[in-house]
Amino acid sequence: MPLDATPAIAHALPARILAPGGGTSMAPPPSLPVARPRLPEAAAILPYLREIDAHGWYANQGQLWSRLRARLAAHWGLDAGCVALTANATLALALALRAFDVPPGRKCLMPAWTFVATAGAAREAGLVPHFADVHPATWALDPDAVEARGDLGEIGAILVVAPFGRPVDTAQWDALSVRTGIPVVIDAAAAFDALRAGGPMEVGTTPVVVSLHATKAFGIGEGGAVLSRDPTWLERLRRLSQFGFLGSREAVLAGTNAKLSEYAAAVGLASLDAWPDTRRGWERVTRLYADALAGDTRLMPSPGFGEDWVSATFSVLWPGDPTSGIAALSRQGVTTLRWWGDGCHRHPAYANCPRDPLPVTDTIAPRAIGLPFWREMTASQVERVCGAAWRSAEAATACIAGPMARSVPMDPPALA
Ligand SMILES: *Cc1c(COP(=O)(O)O)cnc(C)c1O
Repeated sequence: MPLDATPAIAHALPARILAPGGGTSMAPPPSLPVARPRLPEAAAILPYLREIDAHGWYANQGQLWSRLRARLAAHWGLDAGCVALTANATLALALALRAFDVPPGRKCLMPAWTFVATAGAAREAGLVPHFADVHPATWALDPDAVEARGDLGEIGAILVVAPFGRPVDTAQWDALSVRTGIPVVIDAAAAFDALRAGGPMEVGTTPVVVSLHATKAFGIGEGGAVLSRDPTWLERLRRLSQFGFLGSREAVLAGTNAKLSEYAAAVGLASLDAWPDTRRGWERVTRLYADALAGDTRLMPSPGFGEDWVSATFSVLWPGDPTSGIAALSRQGVTTLRWWGDGCHRHPAYANCPRDPLPVTDTIAPRAIGLPFWREMTASQVERVCGAAWRSAEAATACIAGPMARSVPMDPPALA
């Protein structure tokens, strides 16, 4: 996710207002940023850095890297051999496609409703993104709709996206991949928690890619992981991520460098030490919003929000004109971010890629508005956001001809 989007917006603080008497009272409360990423502080990382000093080992599968991999694997209920660590998730997605040997120039089917990294990874692997629509109830690709396509012969690979950390049914994609012979890779960048051992999303036979970026629920700065129960395939991916080497200095595959350094592993270990607390923080703010919006008919959270997984973003489907809604929220000191913009197909770099009709994406994308969401948010800050959102939504819907109820454009049968 574009971390750089956050501070720029967060610093748009309203100017202090001088009261007539010359005092500085009556200043409006400061704007609420849309995100406030918090990684372990220096003191928590320092013991690990001292280990690096003692070993003099800085990259290439050092001790900290090895411990991080083992602990992450345990978190996901996997053997260490089922996890590969990478420099970030985007490179991991590209390498996963390459590890399947999909011939360059083939199409990679993916949802238009995703972060641009998904399409960038396909291009990096030499494939042509082909954008499909998502299901209105899940905001994800629908395996039945994919399997019913008439053009599967043209599809070299499928990239499935777990939207905003919501789990996808991996078993269905495993089965589809077996029946069609088309490799499937799951971009579960934000699903660190949903994938936990005993959690709602299981790792099957198709590989799953997780991001450890600072804006995700479990962040280490920059980093990624590939989860696969096929050790032979994962070995290919690991080889591709380290110049084509594995165990010797002979390049067996034409690889790149996507390794995770010992310094990143140090942050990762400190971040894992804090994960139980971190997760409680995400759970708490998720609960605050879920309770505040329970029974509300105006603002619909993204699918699965408030269920048995946490993520680091919170988007609602705006009931009226999103542009005026965003402006009204901004006037009330509530910063917003449309995390995935108007959809991947609307970005200039991908506007010429082949695509299906995209009525659901084109309905969701302009209206999916990310609201302030971070672990230390207080109940009154959440109330402030919800109050501002309700006022803005009411004003927006009142201006629009007729009641634009949230269920009208999003009714699944109308778009199925
Ligand atoms: C965050 C994200 C990525 C990119 O992950 P990086 O680790 O920053 O490369 C890719 N896809 C989705 C859906 C994401 O949310």
